[in-house]
Amino acid sequence: MNHLRRLLALVALLLLPCLTQAQEPAVTVPIPATPGPADLITPVNPAPIPIDEALRGRLRPMGKPARKVILVILDGLAASGLTFARALSPRESIELDRFPIVGRVIGKPPQGEVNDSAGAASALATGYPGPIKRLAVDELGRPRRTLFEEARQRGFKVGLISDTRLTHATPAAFGAHVTDRDEEAEAARQLVQSGFDLMLSGGIKYFLPAEEGGMQPIGRNLLTEAAAAGYTVVKTRTELAQAVSRNAGRVLGLFSHSFLPFTYDPAFRQTPTLAELTAAALALLDRHPQGFLLMVEAGKIDPCLHLYDAAELVAQMHETNLALRAIADFVRTRPDALVVVVPDHGTNGLAIVESFDPERFQRLAASTMALAERLPATAPDLLPQLAATFPGVAFTEADLAFLQAASGKDYPRRLGYVVNRKLGVEFLPFQREFPKGEAYDHTGEDLFLHALGAHQGLFGGVTRQWEIPRRLAAAMGFVFP
Ligand SMILES: [Zn+2]
Repeated sequence: MNHLRRLLALVALLLLPCLTQAQEPAVTVPIPATPGPADLITPVNPAPIPIDEALRGRLRPMGKPARKVILVILDGLAASGLTFARALSPRESIELDRFPIVGRVIGKPPQGEVNDSAGAASALATGYPGPIKRLAVDELGRPRRTLFEEARQRGFKVGLISDTRLTHATPAAFGAHVTDRDEEAEAARQLVQSGFDLMLSGGIKYFLPAEEGGMQPIGRNLLTEAAAAGYTVVKTRTELAQAVSRNAGRVLGLFSHSFLPFTYDPAFRQTPTLAELTAAALALLDRHPQGFLLMVEAGKIDPCLHLYDAAELVAQMHETNLALRAIADFVRTRPDALVVVVPDHGTNGLAIVESFDPERFQRLAASTMALAERLPATAPDLLPQLAATFPGVAFTEADLAFLQAASGKDYPRRLGYVVNRKLGVEFLPFQREFPKGEAYDHTGEDLFLHALGAHQGLFGGVTRQWEIPRRLAAAMGFVFP
């Protein structure tokens, strides 16, 4: 009897690995063992990189496809931004630190090593490396179908969220096709006609006619056109909540003139946050049995870095963390949900150097964008005012001359540069040898990727930026492009 029991126990022990394996969502990811010519780590002439046939059609996950898929883009966030946020929020857990899958992304654009938001978003949207400055078009300017357009054709609900402007490069690349990212009025017209189910962002000025202070021609109001096309158009937090409780079919939400307000702006309290927009979108989209594909951009990280505003960066990282928490909580409670989080490029070389003291920074730092508004470069007592604002920090006559040399628009950047370096936060030098290009302030570097949820295993390892939509499509059960 004892023998039998021991034998049974042994059999159970031997079977256990098989049993537990069978319960795991079975995912086979046959990444090509020998990369084809298109998969060289540093292509000699990558413009344009041809379709990687080895990858195409070979990423077929086993098991049920993911039906509730969220792509999060952290605009301009290199890994040092996570280090920075963690150091300054010791009591707040970084949501990304809890994601089970971490990958590395090669974000190289067709030319050079440094990408802009337009090129990166085009790669993430279309599955081809985008030339910088352009949105979802090929090298001849012809539209390239986006994953979101494809998913919509396949019955998924599709949505875009950004805390910048809906027509800004990152969100617009998923539903508009223009040869210049600055053609925001044209992007607005295309987005209203996109048929996308949900679009929540800022930048209402691009939807209004000139006579109402907008960027559309006289007599052309895209909000009216959107309403005629079946959209519930909302402009406030209350209206958004009503749209969610009424279960509105299509929602276009535009909550500010341009970017959604930064946290130092008093308007911030009156405007729905990225986390609120995300929660509203998930509530609406979750009701559709056919599933959805949602892009969420944390887009104000990048301007904080451009403007050397480290204190506002901390605030934006906090807002982003709240949005990521809402998404991760959603994904963890649904077997068919997946979230993939990627930055698009690095911005301004944020570096944590040895002299950085998080306690001192926390004690002294204030948003330099906000400070620039109340303390102009022309203030006669600029130096004493700075000394009073940052006690114990030494400001010199050279600093004063540097600040006073600012043209109006340049001043917040100069102020941020001077103040934050003195607080131990380093960035790229303010004045650089080369003239400004489209990706000025950006940096070429490998990017991180985090994934959680159904078929998360498709996203480990090293990926090219333009492979990500292919992998998302594979997780959703189809081949794209
Ligand atoms: Zn960007």
